[in-house]
Amino acid sequence: MSTQAAAAVVDLAHHRDDPVITTLRTSFQRMHQLSRSEAPPTVAERRARLDALERVLRANQTAITEACNADFGARSRHETLLADIFPTMATLKHTRKHLAGWAKPRRAPVHWAFQPGSARVVPQPLGVIGIIAPWNYPVQLSLSPLVAALAAGNRAIIKPSELTPNTSALLAKMMTEAFDPSVVTVAQGGVEVAEAFSRLPFDHILFTGSTRVGAMVMRAAADNLTPVTLELGGKSPAVIHDSFPMDLAAERIMAGKLLNAGQTCIAPDYVLVPHGKTAEFIEACKQVVAKTRPTLRDNPDYTAVVNDRQYLRLCQWLDDAKSKGAQVIEINPANEEFLAAAHKMPPTLVTATSDDMILMQEEIFGPILPVLEHTGTDDAIAYINARPRPLALYYFDRDSSRVNAVMQRTTSGGVTINDTILHIAQEDLPFGGVGPAGMGAYHGQRGFDTLSHLKGVFYQSRINGAFLMNPPYGPRLERLVSILTA
Ligand code: NAD
Repeated sequence: MSTQAAAAVVDLAHHRDDPVITTLRTSFQRMHQLSRSEAPPTVAERRARLDALERVLRANQTAITEACNADFGARSRHETLLADIFPTMATLKHTRKHLAGWAKPRRAPVHWAFQPGSARVVPQPLGVIGIIAPWNYPVQLSLSPLVAALAAGNRAIIKPSELTPNTSALLAKMMTEAFDPSVVTVAQGGVEVAEAFSRLPFDHILFTGSTRVGAMVMRAAADNLTPVTLELGGKSPAVIHDSFPMDLAAERIMAGKLLNAGQTCIAPDYVLVPHGKTAEFIEACKQVVAKTRPTLRDNPDYTAVVNDRQYLRLCQWLDDAKSKGAQVIEINPANEEFLAAAHKMPPTLVTATSDDMILMQEEIFGPILPVLEHTGTDDAIAYINARPRPLALYYFDRDSSRVNAVMQRTTSGGVTINDTILHIAQEDLPFGGVGPAGMGAYHGQRGFDTLSHLKGVFYQSRINGAFLMNPPYGPRLERLVSILTA
């Protein structure tokens, strides 16, 4: 046994008495055994599962908004509807509509030497899918992967975040109502449960979370050769071209930044404005905030930072930036006093930044936006390309040749041109990262395919020329190969 495998056994033995981990392992074993012994669900059965998910989601809309609010201390009900419930429902409906087409065997072309045989790509369920979700959109990021898993005919276990315990408990209750526990279950718990979860020999793990933990999940999955899809984070830039109206760019960048108080994987992390335009951008942002959120502290549509720890982290990063010479501009239209205990942070712009500030090295994940200047598109591209590949990139410009140049010369998980966030809402676009922002993708058919085994099948025809390739080899085969390779 390898050292790592031995460590895994010891670790599981260590948790033998933890009832959550014991239940998790029992559920997994039962699902695994059934996925190998029962016929895969038909398209109609998969649709029925999606219908059950839709019913339970509809019935629990209010409960979900309340649970998220309790978990964040203050989570805008409208943002929960917009960014947790709507995307899940949209993916559910889109998937149900296209399921029959996606699940059908797909005809594949055949080289003339093997005709008239035919070939098909046959999608098959993988078996049991592990879904690990973060706290920032606890419903969407647990249930959208589940939609793909169920559509592809799999069983699934969800491990939601321990940092949103009310929502995690609600998800567990909803899944118990909607599904037989041999089809979907929820494993609640902290890091120990998460670690044991990622060591189970799932047929695929879809992890959404930080780059640091993503690497740990991949390491654990490697012991079982479990494939992983890693939906991670990073620093996503927004770039404004000189020709683009500043007020419009500011409006759209602030919309993307302040949604969920910046706790969005694809939130613009920093902005590159044209040289000399920092003051104009700051003024435009102030106007946007005054218009969209004239008050912040008690405004139910301005979400809090999720907990004290995250709030403290953001404050420390601001202190670090200040101590290294940054200017910090709080946007606080009603001049309200913010209490640390409520962990709400006003939108905060940071200028005069430098690479040695933590803010400029780590994903911010809060309502803080560093503002940098560029001297032109080439300069912006060079700045972005000198750093790890981002999860998202936003470019504001109406000139298509410059837009194309930015598209060709930068590599990011996804892109929205002339706005922010919206590429994630397009069901037919694959959603995923590249480099440290993740690997693999889902959404729409890409999600179905990711959680399916796409089996290649060749159907030999009654009459065929395959015998020409059989021994005894001699001049006939040599002639054939010379024709085939001509
Ligand atoms: P996190 O990595 O701390 O936690 C994510 C999940 O991993 C949680 O369920 C947690 O319990 C679990 N976990 C913790 N330790 C583990 C371990 N050792 N082994 C296995 N699982 C473990 O992330 P977070 O703080 O919940 O979320 C914020 C991060 O997620 C940000 O970096 C953000 O960019 C990223 N994110 C990415 C996307 C995306 O779609 N790409 C979406 C949302 C959030």
